[in-house]
Amino acid sequence: MKKILLLLLCVFCFVSCKKDLAVEVCVESVVSLDTTISNHNVLIVGIDGFRSDALTEDITPFMYNLSSRDDVYFTPFHNTEEDTYSGPNWSSLLTGVHYSKHNVVDNSFVGSRFSTYPPFQYYLELAYQQINTSSITNWNPINTYIHHQYLDYTSASTLNDSMVFQSSRDLLIEGYPIDPDVLFLQFDELDAAGHSFGFSPEVSEYVSTLSKIDVFVESLFNIIEEKRNNLGEDWLFFIVSDHGGDGTGHGDAENPHINQTIFFSQHPDLSFKPNYITNQTDLAPTILDYMGVDSEEIDCKMDGISIIE
Ligand SMILES: [Zn+2]
Repeated sequence: MKKILLLLLCVFCFVSCKKDLAVEVCVESVVSLDTTISNHNVLIVGIDGFRSDALTEDITPFMYNLSSRDDVYFTPFHNTEEDTYSGPNWSSLLTGVHYSKHNVVDNSFVGSRFSTYPPFQYYLELAYQQINTSSITNWNPINTYIHHQYLDYTSASTLNDSMVFQSSRDLLIEGYPIDPDVLFLQFDELDAAGHSFGFSPEVSEYVSTLSKIDVFVESLFNIIEEKRNNLGEDWLFFIVSDHGGDGTGHGDAENPHINQTIFFSQHPDLSFKPNYITNQTDLAPTILDYMGVDSEEIDCKMDGISIIE
């Protein structure tokens, strides 16, 4: 009996120690840069609380048509974290690691480990001296807790969705107050409509809010197309969300209307992994791959994969 216990203890120790070790051996390493890449840029549009079955031709005509284009990766089955609060999910999208590593388990961000698992922009800033990274958000904790110390420009005060759109437009078109190479933006009013009236394609307040956001997204996409065609800038375009919703909440992590959401990646020339279902940790490695940034540390830490083929 003692022998069996000892054996079990050894097996347990081996398994758990191995897990700990895997994190600890991620030593800081030199970030390598693909020097053939000089004009790559990224726009990430974040839409809080996007329930997948609300993506329809009537509600979201622009995004609905985008989802079936040949140059787009799209899934309505994108997996959220098991913890379906906003804090853990935006953290996983931006760091490329699951919430067990970044340790954001709710919207208080208490105990977060961003110094060990920084947002992807940290690695871009390490690799490129001149790069401009920027984040414009309605839900301010993203900038306060995740982005603030790592990015060149973050919106300071709480903005509504129209102001997020306007500020992003000013950055992209006017280059004011900075000219972003990599821009993350986040709309939050869909989540607010869901909490007040219900997350559902049957709820008129949820539907009208999403339709308004669809117009913003189309306008932002057209700005990117203009930059590609007239300025020779090579943009990768994403639409992401943190979670879906059902009833007036999104706490039930077993509910597919909540634990699945949409994910779009669009580029005119790239191919994306076919038949692959993304999760929150795939955004950051895909962006670093596109920007030609790599290191042993990044490979060691990241849980997600690049969806670029
Ligand atoms: Zn919410």
